[in-house]
Amino acid sequence: MAREKSLWEIYTEQQLQEMEAVNARYRELLDRGKTERECAKVSIEMAQAAGYRPLDELVKAGSSLCPGDKVYAQYNGKTLVLYHIGTEPIENGMNILGAHIDSPRIDVKQNPLYESTGLAYLDTHYYGGIKKYQWVTIPLAIHGVVIKKDGSRVDICLGENEDDPVFAITDLLIHLAQKQMTKDAAKVIEGEGLDVLVGSVPRDFGGSAEEESAGDAADSEKKLRKTPVKANILQLLKERYGIEEEDFLSAELEVVPAGRARELGFDRSMILSYGQDDRICAFTSLMAMLETDTPKRTACCLLVDKEEVGSQGASGMQSRFFENMTAEVLALMGYPSALSLRRTLQNSSMLSSDVSAGFDPLYADVFETKNAAYLGKGVVFNKFTGARGKSGSSDANPEFMAAIRRILDENEVQFQTAELGKVDVGGGGTIAWIMANYGMEVIDCGLAVLCMHAPMEISSKADVYEGFRAYKVFLEHMTNIYGL
Ligand code: MN
Ligand code: MN
Repeated sequence: MAREKSLWEIYTEQQLQEMEAVNARYRELLDRGKTERECAKVSIEMAQAAGYRPLDELVKAGSSLCPGDKVYAQYNGKTLVLYHIGTEPIENGMNILGAHIDSPRIDVKQNPLYESTGLAYLDTHYYGGIKKYQWVTIPLAIHGVVIKKDGSRVDICLGENEDDPVFAITDLLIHLAQKQMTKDAAKVIEGEGLDVLVGSVPRDFGGSAEEESAGDAADSEKKLRKTPVKANILQLLKERYGIEEEDFLSAELEVVPAGRARELGFDRSMILSYGQDDRICAFTSLMAMLETDTPKRTACCLLVDKEEVGSQGASGMQSRFFENMTAEVLALMGYPSALSLRRTLQNSSMLSSDVSAGFDPLYADVFETKNAAYLGKGVVFNKFTGARGKSGSSDANPEFMAAIRRILDENEVQFQTAELGKVDVGGGGTIAWIMANYGMEVIDCGLAVLCMHAPMEISSKADVYEGFRAYKVFLEHMTNIYGL
């Protein structure tokens, strides 16, 4: 049933209730999981509550895995994979759901803290594709970790509680912005202009300036006296977190919009929140995974980091993490050979889920209406992605799309198909091509959002629910299309 109606017109009273329940949990994940680490942590908690056990412990214990068993593995708290062992031979392939849990944001540099004219700042480098001008003059929070030289870890999350302070990036007042307003949008705010304002109170060193110049103060204190506001911030960091300036060298601090996910509209039909790309797909995939009873084909859910910067690195989809963990699972099932791993991966089917650009009537000229995604009409399939002649695309096989149409129709789940905008207007890619390298069937799909990559993104509650339903049907009903 490709894009027939608004889901709001189809849902029964009971479905509307389930939709609200699923969305309440979604908003909780958005609030508690604003970074890849936080999102992985919350996801692991949810998985454990649903009976998933850590794979590494089973490997150490030399346990075996049987149909019905549920295991998870994580890499450095940033990337997560779950397996629910099915009743069919695993070499027949798995049904895999994948999404990413990193989001565009502003990262703190390794030597960040400085003072200028009585104001203290953290210097930053933005992460992922952002319109820089959208990130000024909004309340910001700092989330992340500081790893001290002795290896101990300090978790930081400041700006989210009602009585927490927040942070901000300044912009030029309109009165003096005559020249700025003539710049094009990419240059209105420069990358080096995204420094975060963090304080303005000078430290009280006690004693007089004469004493200092007389040489009573130590060299390090003399240096600090020159930037008393920075010195005060360092003292506060020391008191609150036990960290020194040098500890920024081994920190991962992420600046994100402060505040909670909110219902949007008089009818409360939408969600306004940071980080819905791609936590809307990560959450719905995870929920589907956790609510699936022992499947025929082994079910798998992958939540990965670093998609927004190209999926490189050990926590990105291009790493061997997923392959290695799958090899461990196979070994515990009694299939230790490399050939078994190859067969399992090649015979698998995957929904690579990432957000779609929702049709926005205010910017209608960048969309082609027949092949656009609409809010409230269900999960979106992109047969291909890419840009400028499908370059960089992962193009799904029509045989696979046909099988997906069949199982979704049979289970009364609504879906739509789309492209990311008009031809040659732009484009983008996801993690699909990386998984396709194994020879498995992969298609890009996901849920529509408005203002993707903005500090606040907009989605439809109906799509969150329909996405969850679609992913569950895929895990339960997808078979190997070549009849294995
Ligand atoms: Mn994405
Ligand atoms: Mn993105």
